[in-house]
Amino acid sequence: MTEEKYTLETVLSVKKWAANLFSFTMTRPAHFRFTAGQFARIGLQSDGELIVRAYSVVSSPFDETLEFFSIVVPDGAFTSKLQNLKAGDQLYLEKIPYGFLTLARYQQPTPHDLWLLATGTGLAPFLSMLQDFDTWQKYRYIVLAYSVRTSDELAYVERIREIQQIFAQESDAEFIFLPIITRDPFASLNQRLPKLIESGQLEKAADLKLHIETSHVMLCGNPQMVEDTKEALKSIGLVMNRRGVGNIAVENYW
Ligand SMILES: Cc1cc2nc3c(=O)[nH]c(=O)nc-3n(C[C@H](O)[C@H](O)[C@H](O)COP(=O)(O)OP(=O)(O)OC[C@H]3O[C@@H](n4cnc5c(N)ncnc54)[C@H](O)[C@@H]3O)c2cc1C
Repeated sequence: MTEEKYTLETVLSVKKWAANLFSFTMTRPAHFRFTAGQFARIGLQSDGELIVRAYSVVSSPFDETLEFFSIVVPDGAFTSKLQNLKAGDQLYLEKIPYGFLTLARYQQPTPHDLWLLATGTGLAPFLSMLQDFDTWQKYRYIVLAYSVRTSDELAYVERIREIQQIFAQESDAEFIFLPIITRDPFASLNQRLPKLIESGQLEKAADLKLHIETSHVMLCGNPQMVEDTKEALKSIGLVMNRRGVGNIAVENYW
């Protein structure tokens, strides 16, 4: 049963960002093909039982390895074990990827400005999209707003800058990165995403308008943020994306 559904993959590297955050890479089997924004199901054995959790893929669909970005939940069944991961360990990987938080879901409006709004590890699917040339060729503007509580939780910032340098050079897209640190009174953006949208501060910081006729807005991470941000976006006229039409697409992590 397990062998039909999963392959066993080897962990190649582990990087710790903060006490409760780390990333890891592992081998990618040739059959595991995914679209940027999709998630994998990863498993580990604990007391003779297989525990499986959803993990958005960080790496580009063209990478040879798979990268993931993980929270550590104190007493979490999965992450309290996963946090001890080291190179050479093995993890189960379900053979097929899942998920609809992909750019292909948008037919209308046609691509113009893309807003990627994340809290914490909800950054993961957006890193994959940003490492796919398709994204940079499709859009005129790409805004990444990445909200964390404290500055030490702001992982991947250097990587985001590198991605910008590599991909922006080859395209006409303008990339706007907006880090948000909600517990830092001195950060240039320090309010929760719904507030920043309601007050117009997010648009001001991006120097760009959210608009029903041009914007694709993706939300990923904390379900409360997703819910409140969705409502804030609706209050300025944007609509949920259904059957290809509309602005807002979401993914909740719990
Ligand atoms: C589609 C999808 C994609 C996901 N992708 C990722 C990912 O890329 N990285 C990742 O770390 N997690 C991701 N998750 C969450 C992940 O599946 C697990 O919930 C997480 O690994 C914790 O597992 P656990 O067994 O330790 O705790 P669980 O018993 O699964 O969760 C316990 C509690 O921890 C909190 N929690 C869970 N996940 C997070 C999180 N990511 N950030 C902050 N608090 C959290 C919630 O309050 C939750 O109720 C994703 C979930 C879904 C549905």
